[in-house]
Amino acid sequence: MTLEEGKLYIIGIGPGHLDLMTVAAQKAISESHYIIGNATYLDYIRSLLSGKKIITSSMGKEIARAMHAIELASGGNIVSIISGGDAGIYGMAGIVLEIAEKEDSDVKIEVVPGVTAASAAASTIGSPITSDFAVISLSDLLTPWEDIEKRLSSAAASDFVIVLYNPKSRNRNTNFSRCMDIIKRYKSGSVPVGIVKNALRDGESTIVTTIEDALDYDDFIDMHTTVIIGNSESRIWKNRIITPRGYHRKYDY
Ligand code: SAH
Repeated sequence: MTLEEGKLYIIGIGPGHLDLMTVAAQKAISESHYIIGNATYLDYIRSLLSGKKIITSSMGKEIARAMHAIELASGGNIVSIISGGDAGIYGMAGIVLEIAEKEDSDVKIEVVPGVTAASAAASTIGSPITSDFAVISLSDLLTPWEDIEKRLSSAAASDFVIVLYNPKSRNRNTNFSRCMDIIKRYKSGSVPVGIVKNALRDGESTIVTTIEDALDYDDFIDMHTTVIIGNSESRIWKNRIITPRGYHRKYDY
């Protein structure tokens, strides 16, 4: 008899409501023996977890969590490791694959995508990312701040819509205001800005404003917030942001 073949799913569960999680993600969880994740994310999917072996891990322990998941899957278990939003966007997919690569592991790994904060936040304030957009995290925990500044400048100079993840954290309170100082060098003060806290989950709250006034909301912005800064064509209509796709350049309507 051969040992049952293990498998490791790296799952993006979306913003936190079950109806915004993919069917593939739900199936992977129902197949799994072990579910590994941090307490907040596991709480969002609590109703799917009965009968599963649960391993709760805390933020900052991602490397240990990834190693443990690979070890369990290598031992013949079906394991799901959970990320919020999409697992490949500032999520667990990267570190799990890096460690599997380092160990030259043969374990089967499948990344299951999810609704990322950019899509979730955008949907609550209209269509702000309907043209080219750049996603930039303001967290300088794992990326040097100089690189973040360079990316902000380049994206703003190229008139990208800019989606900011991790605009603040407990220890980094000034990153958002420093970011806006850079953005203001390249984008006009009248460009729309959407600030979305807890998109598509309990506690959702949105603000639509402009670059000029965005810093008035500095205190509102926290680690559960995504900020979307428009391009030169973005406009506000009935408290929503529209970034045109470009149909107006080709058609009369
Ligand atoms: N993998 C996640 C992102 C992790 S980085 C994803 O794909 O969504 C964490 C950052 O994501 C937060 O600081 C915040 O900027 C953003 N975020 C995640 N979920 C969010 C939500 N529901 N509403 C607003 N922002 C969110």
